[in-house]
Amino acid sequence: MTVNVNGYEWKIIYTHNKKDLSRSDGSLTLGVTDLNVMSIFLYDKLVGDLKRKVLIHELVHAWIFSYGIIVPLEWEEFMCSFIDSYGLDIINTADYLLCSGYCNIAL
Ligand SMILES: [Zn+2]
Repeated sequence: MTVNVNGYEWKIIYTHNKKDLSRSDGSLTLGVTDLNVMSIFLYDKLVGDLKRKVLIHELVHAWIFSYGIIVPLEWEEFMCSFIDSYGLDIINTADYLLCSGYCNIAL
């Protein structure tokens, strides 16, 4: 599976390979976005809301890379975490407000 972001093709790879799910400091995580191989690695046992949250987090990394946004790593992680936590609420609220409450959007 791939996703195109601003002309860059990212592979989405579900895996349980520890090498793919290791951060630069060697610690394990549930998702990794690796610019060197243009791939998003996701732990293949993720399900439900946590899977969605990790996928959103890693997609934000891909968007940041693909649009050439350069910020300190701590800021990037903050942005990814903020959006994986609140992004859907913000978008759903905007859709609700734009529809004046008459669209079929669950909040
Ligand atoms: Zn991250």
